[in-house]
Amino acid sequence: MAGENCIFCKVVTGEIPAAKVYEDERAVAFRDINTQAPTHALVIPRAHVASLNEAGEADEALLGHLLLVAARVAREEGHAEGGYRTVINTGAGAGQSVFHVHVHVLGGRALTWPPG
Ligand code: AMP
Repeated sequence: MAGENCIFCKVVTGEIPAAKVYEDERAVAFRDINTQAPTHALVIPRAHVASLNEAGEADEALLGHLLLVAARVAREEGHAEGGYRTVINTGAGAGQSVFHVHVHVLGGRALTWPPG
């Protein structure tokens, strides 16, 4: 569901406004509108990939890049020392609600394990 029906594709194009914290030629990071922690950002690829289930070998470097961007965002938000969590929900059963792959970056409060 790339393009006009994908809200994160619209964030990439600027059609939907977002509080961006980082962007480069392959990825965009922006603040989640329904924050679950003092820092809650989402890192997405500019290219539409619906979920990890749809990712293939051609996406290997891109997925690694998303994790490095997540670490960068966490570091810039001041969480490198105190810790932070990166989450990729895959499929509705795991809580995925937007089908454009994204890495949640959560930090700034104690994070328990296991997650809910
Ligand atoms: P998930 O449930 O893992 O698919 O995560 C989707 C996330 O996207 C949720 O945490 C939503 O709050 C967030 N979200 C949905 N629409 C927007 C938007 N327009 N801008 C920022 N975050 C959004």
